[in-house]
Parts: sequence; structure tokens; C-alpha cells
Amino acid sequence: MRARRMLVSVCGAALVRTTLAAQAPISDIDMHIAAGKAAAGLEYRATFVNLCLAGANPALANPAAGRGAGQPAGRGPGAGRGAAPDRGTWYASPYKVFDNFYWLGTRQHSSWALRTSEGLIVIDTNFAWATQPEIIDGLTTLGLDPRQIKYVVISHAHGDHDQGAAELQKRFGAKVVMGTPDWESTLQRPATAAGGVPSRDVAVGPAGMKLTLGDTTIDIVSTPGHTPGTLSYVFPVKDQGRTLMVAYSGGTLTGAFGANAARWDEYIASQQRIARAAADAGATVLLSNHSEYDNAYTKARLIAAKREVGEDHPFVAGADSVQRYFTVMTECAMAAKLRAGAK
Ligand SMILES: [Zn+2]
Repeated sequence: MRARRMLVSVCGAALVRTTLAAQAPISDIDMHIAAGKAAAGLEYRATFVNLCLAGANPALANPAAGRGAGQPAGRGPGAGRGAAPDRGTWYASPYKVFDNFYWLGTRQHSSWALRTSEGLIVIDTNFAWATQPEIIDGLTTLGLDPRQIKYVVISHAHGDHDQGAAELQKRFGAKVVMGTPDWESTLQRPATAAGGVPSRDVAVGPAGMKLTLGDTTIDIVSTPGHTPGTLSYVFPVKDQGRTLMVAYSGGTLTGAFGANAARWDEYIASQQRIARAAADAGATVLLSNHSEYDNAYTKARLIAAKREVGEDHPFVAGADSVQRYFTVMTECAMAAKLRAGAK
């Protein structure tokens, strides 16, 4: 009898809890996460996981870890390039992606070359140890001349994207383009930093800029957030003669913004700015500087594969998909801002 009464009371308590839970409103955090998840679909799961799930973003746990976290630091002797990790863990062949656009990445990080009527624009570099095998040898393998590199556009000043800039500047006379605040942090590096320190050429302010070389113009959009000077881009490429517009997301992880609402708002506004520029241009290709986010390494290898009926070029995602990418970034940042207690 006594045992039976206890059971009733336990079940009663459970019933009350269930009822309360069912009536509790879904939190704003959950709503933003659900919106981010819906936008991510199956295409952008890594971006969703890294930005939306608490604890998945190393920069949130440890600010210093945001700089190519988990990647080899590239320190050590050897012409300032740092020691390359085991080639079997990173080397990837170069690929021609569009008529005038080339992928020069490692399996983890992407560099790109855009061929214009007046020379080459390299978009993002990589760790210093990858400059020769991936960018310089990659261009040569694809029949391009590294001496034709006129600009090196750096999305943000973290070592996994900018350590090749100084070498390309010094050897080929390329002009380096970077956001103004990221130039400031770059110029404070010691001369012994991996890859060396580029000298300041073109600094892009908050209004962004149009960079024209020959017949091609890159719309550089200032998207501060991942770093104070992060740049994103919209630019045209040719696919068998047809013009396609690319939206390039220059920085992904949110930093250790904590309760600093202004930093979160700046990041969110930046994603909305590049999303609008992408929509205005009709961008149907979404690129990043990490294969983790845009599957560049996999897609590059798929270019040579047979296309089934209805399948487009592997890098063409469609205008809706490009917008959904930036929705993932926006919604996840909104969730993270609330989770951080920033108001
Ligand atoms: Zn970074």
C-alpha cells in the first residue's frame, strides 16, 4: 500500500513536469538554431555545427584557438616557411574549376586564382609551407605563369589564409589587398613570423571597394566579425562561356565576443551585407576558404565526373542555396549572442 502511494506520487510529479514542459514556449535561442538548421539542409552542416552548437566553436572556448585551430602551426626553420606537416595529410592537386578560375588549395584550406585579361588575382593564400607546392607549382601545372599574379586578396589576417602573401608579393611583385584593421595587426608581426610580413599595398575600409584588373571586377565587401578587417567578395567567373556570379564568405567562426553585443551585431550585419550583395548580383556559387564549409576539395574532384541529367556544375548551388548559407551564419550568430547573454 505504502509502495503504491509512492508510485502514484512519483507519477503525479512526472505528469506535472511534462505538462509544464509542453506549455513552456520555445526559447528564442532554439528558434534561431532551428532556423539555422533548416537553412543549412544537408549542404551546410559543418557551418551549422560549428556556429550553432554550443561548445563546437573553438574560438568561443579559447580565443587563441580561432587561428587555424587544429591545424599545424607551421613554425620552425626553413626560409621562414615553417615545417610542412606530412604531405600525405594535406596535399591536393590543383584543379581548373571554371574557364578562368582555379582551385589551388590543400585538402583543408583553399586558395584560388582568377584569370583576367591583364593577369591573375590570387584569392587567399594558405600556410607558408603550402605556397610553393600548392600555389606556385599549382599554377604552373595548370599552364599559368605565377609571374602574372597582379593581386593577392586576403580575406582575413589569420595564418591559414595569409602566410603566402609576403612571398607572392616579394617574388612576383603582386599587390596585397587586405582590410585596414587586418593590415594593422599584420604589420605588428615580427619579421620572423612564418611566411614573413607583407608590406602594405591596398587597404580596404568599411565601405569596401571594387578591384578591377583588365576585364574583371571583384566587388570587395567589408564583413568585419571573424576579424575586424574580414573581407568577403562577389565576382564573376565563366563556365563554358556563360557568366556565373560567385559569393565568397571570407570569415566564418564567431569569436570570443562574450557579452559584447556590438561585436555580435557587427558580425550579423556583415552576413546580411554580403547576402544582399550576393542576391543583387544573382550569385549562384558559394565559396569559402575552408573546404569544411564549401566542400571545395570534393567538388573540385567532381568536375571531371560524369554529370547525370539535371545535374549542374558541382560548384553551382543556386541563388537560394547561396542565401541559405548566409542565413545559417546569421541565425547561428543570433543564437550564440543570446546564449552569451549579450543584450
Ligand atoms: Zn580565421
